[in-house]
Amino acid sequence: MAYSALYRTFRPLTFREMVGQENITKTIKNQIISGRIGHAYLLSGGRGTGKTTTAKILARAMNCLNLKDGEPCNECEICKGILSGSLTDVVEMDAASNNSVEDIRAIRDEVNFLPTLAKYRVYIIDEVHMLSTGAFNALLKTLEEPPEHVKFILATTEPQKLPATILSRCQRFDFKRISVEDIIKRLKIVCEESKIEITEEALRLVANLSEGAMRDALSILERCMQDGDNQISIEKIRELVGIPEITYIHKLLRYIVQSNIEGVIESTQEVLKEGKDIHNFLWEMIKYTKDILIYKTTGKLEIYNKKELEGICELAEKIEKEQLIKIIYELSELDNSIKWEEQKQVMFEVGLIKTCVNREENSEDLVKRVEKLEDKMKNTSFIVQTKTEEKQENRQNT
Ligand SMILES: [Zn+2]
Repeated sequence: MAYSALYRTFRPLTFREMVGQENITKTIKNQIISGRIGHAYLLSGGRGTGKTTTAKILARAMNCLNLKDGEPCNECEICKGILSGSLTDVVEMDAASNNSVEDIRAIRDEVNFLPTLAKYRVYIIDEVHMLSTGAFNALLKTLEEPPEHVKFILATTEPQKLPATILSRCQRFDFKRISVEDIIKRLKIVCEESKIEITEEALRLVANLSEGAMRDALSILERCMQDGDNQISIEKIRELVGIPEITYIHKLLRYIVQSNIEGVIESTQEVLKEGKDIHNFLWEMIKYTKDILIYKTTGKLEIYNKKELEGICELAEKIEKEQLIKIIYELSELDNSIKWEEQKQVMFEVGLIKTCVNREENSEDLVKRVEKLEDKMKNTSFIVQTKTEEKQENRQNT
């Protein structure tokens, strides 16, 4: 099965079928019913929120011969022609690959011709922020005085990159991320129609992992089915998307919070012994710490099971939000600083010990213990030595 099969199969064909963007679809439908169609639309928002889907439905609704309550019929000659891509009056263009002045000039020359069959010539330009400056200027000329029979639908994930002159000539609609509940609703329909057996818990996990993007939700489902088995459980999803064994991460973070240096050393070595990728591991630790922060702030988290949640709850009670934020920064700095180090493993270990010490900033005792440890490591690597020297220099300077 192709990667995007589910997404294509279940792309909504009417505004009614779309989820999570009711305000936008209602406004557009009303414009179509009353015949007040704008000459240029800008659809902006994150990936997978329905911009392209809306653009396609809108292009058909503008031209449908048998409009039903602002919705395209999807059965008339025009709708069918647009759906199959055979009607040349509706042009879809991806600005990521067609971003030159020539591409836009071609449109400028074309717009003077009347549409062949449809009422309007419609240009859908996806990822419009990718156009070159020259192309924007060419587009602007067309947008300034478009012929009556031409409509533009521009879509972008990054509206802030568009020139103000373009923005001011478009009717703008901002697509929001789709809520977990709305994604679940849609996934249920998709699963039913595709005969996918999925538990309620698993559906919720997929919806949470997709972070408001329907396309991502469907692609997770699809990846789960690639083994030919239509049954999807929470375990299968976790394995597939690589939610790591959080036991290690939890243990290490608990030692850091408790300022237990021996514990940190012991679990860091366990991690290294397992041959885990250090950057991945640090990234997972950052995410886990962030999740504890979210739990502390909102009181809920969806992607963990009951036992994991108990662990998170326990840590959340022991540490202040400010400290969690500091840990996130320290871990991300550590990740950056060891990127180019040859002795990654040693620096990883020292970095985590420092994060642990920083939890007890005033404790001289702890600083002494770290210095002793650093001295011990000094002989094993020149990098540690340099760092220790730096530290001594710093101390002399203060
Ligand atoms: Zn139609």
